[in-house]
Amino acid sequence: MRALKLTGPGTMELVEVPVPEIADHEVLVKVTAAGLCHSDLHILHQDENWPFFGTTLGHETAGLVDSVGAAVTGLVPGEAVLVRALWACGECRPCRLGADNACAVTGTRTMFPLTPGLGADGGMADFIKVDARHLEKIGELDPLVAAPLADAGLTPMHNVNSVLPYLTEGATVVVIGIGGLGHVALQILAAAAPEARVIAVDTDDAKLDLARSRGASLVLKPGPDAAARILAEAGEHGVDAVLDFVGVQPTIDLAMSVVRPEGAIRIVGLGEGHAQINADLSGEPLPWGVTVQRAYGGNIADQRAVIDLANRGLVTIESTAYPLAEAQRAFDDLAAGRVAGRAVLVP
Ligand code: NAD
Ligand code: ZN
Ligand code: ZN
Repeated sequence: MRALKLTGPGTMELVEVPVPEIADHEVLVKVTAAGLCHSDLHILHQDENWPFFGTTLGHETAGLVDSVGAAVTGLVPGEAVLVRALWACGECRPCRLGADNACAVTGTRTMFPLTPGLGADGGMADFIKVDARHLEKIGELDPLVAAPLADAGLTPMHNVNSVLPYLTEGATVVVIGIGGLGHVALQILAAAAPEARVIAVDTDDAKLDLARSRGASLVLKPGPDAAARILAEAGEHGVDAVLDFVGVQPTIDLAMSVVRPEGAIRIVGLGEGHAQINADLSGEPLPWGVTVQRAYGGNIADQRAVIDLANRGLVTIESTAYPLAEAQRAFDDLAAGRVAGRAVLVP
């Protein structure tokens, strides 16, 4: 079978490898769609110290059950499944408390839990083997919609859930970065907080058009007047929550300059910016009481919730299909900002 391997800093290769053999608790999944996340670009550009060279890329995978191990029950060949992106143990204290995105067994205090496409072979291949525990049934969902739900659905779902308590009557929320994750966040907000006013920020006109079509009431580009425009819309006291799907210094600075006291900032993008908290009386740069979270993925409940929204037609993915053999073109298009929504590889 073919597998897209990360071979070194900045390099990947579609190679022939044997179809994986499955253990008793595992399932062999024939991949029907594999989403391309901006994190794959970050992964591609790690230096030679990156521990996961040789791994098959891809953490957003939909497919059909091909065969199941002897101990697997409840899944039969031909069934459509989503491969979850976080492979938690399911038994440690965080997992039992529903925080499997902070699993203490497959992850550590500073390293995220095991993720296909990083520590384990991922879905940019003809087949993937996966522990049956990490599969979700997806029924009739279009694979091009289903695959991105593993991360572009999961992570916004988690972050919207975490700011929902801030989005009471008259609320305003800012979403920065209307790409794969951001365009899903807008739809989840429309479903979960229909009263909230949503402001979308992106550098690209096409992404702002997408934002408008997915429920944003005001769209704008970052720049010197962005904070003033947001405060003019939300009121001088500030916005209730900011979801930053970019995470560069200008977007984090923008988030900090518009959030209200006791508001929320969720930094999801891996843009290498810094959010500084000063323990002094001046209140700068953050208003009092703001919660700032560096967020990773989501939990199983978030995953199921966003699958449910997709099944109800409340979340759709704007997706562009690329043959697996043309993965490089998809990576290039994503890097150049030419992808609206999600690029999805199809074996
Ligand atoms: P994407 O490339 O699909 O979208 C990024 C969007 O941000 C684009 O629309 C782009 O035009 C816009 N953008 C770029 N620079 C900007 C700026 N300075 N100001 C405003 N908008 C800007 O990316 P994606 O797949 O949606 O991922 C978004 C980010 O989230 C990436 O950094 C990715 O690695 C990260 N990510 C984090 C997690 C997590 O759990 N923390 C999970 C998935 C993805
Ligand atoms: Zn991702
Ligand atoms: Zn665990």
